[in-house]
Amino acid sequence: MRKWISILLVCLIAVGLSGCAGAEKTKELPANFADAQSILDYLEQQNEIFAKAGKNSGDLSKDKRADTAENGQHPYAVIVTCSDSRVPAEHIFNAGIGELFVIRTAGNVIGDHALGSVEYGVEHLGAKLVIVLGHTHCGAVDAALNGGAHGAIATITDEISACLPAGCDAREAEKLNVENSISRIMESEMIAELAKKGETCIVGAIYNIESGTVEFFD
Ligand SMILES: [Zn+2]
Repeated sequence: MRKWISILLVCLIAVGLSGCAGAEKTKELPANFADAQSILDYLEQQNEIFAKAGKNSGDLSKDKRADTAENGQHPYAVIVTCSDSRVPAEHIFNAGIGELFVIRTAGNVIGDHALGSVEYGVEHLGAKLVIVLGHTHCGAVDAALNGGAHGAIATITDEISACLPAGCDAREAEKLNVENSISRIMESEMIAELAKKGETCIVGAIYNIESGTVEFFD
């Protein structure tokens, strides 16, 4: 009798644990995105979920690791954002393994390597959407507004300050810096051609590091 009670207890504990695991279930991805707009709508929804929940329910499982190791990556969007540790791109969009192709540089500036990475994500991996994501309280933008920097960091602040009018404030500068990076990306003949054919779309946005929300440009 004692043995059966023990077995029953083990079963109840197992059911309880699986119930807890179920509560943390990872989100399911749409099977296919029709176009860039549907990806944008989806990422807006996912950002709302992240901002409210303060955690990422994307698929980070062993199964997903095994699947992407065997079958390769098929990210649906390229994210160009700042290296700032408060701007964790996958978390912001509640995304798991294999969903986003992320390029991060301080100040989300675009140089040759970053541009090559964007081209790879769009042309080779087939991402239909590119988001250039600036953020509030960006140190690189702040440094550009306040006299620049020394060493190789100056290559970043010079790139930013060149696109800023005299006397602009931080919020305006963050937006202008994103727009400048979009212009740099569009200097790629490959991307300009794909954008012209409607095969990829580039949008700008600002991430608010306090609220967790992403505001997309019109
Ligand atoms: Zn930054």
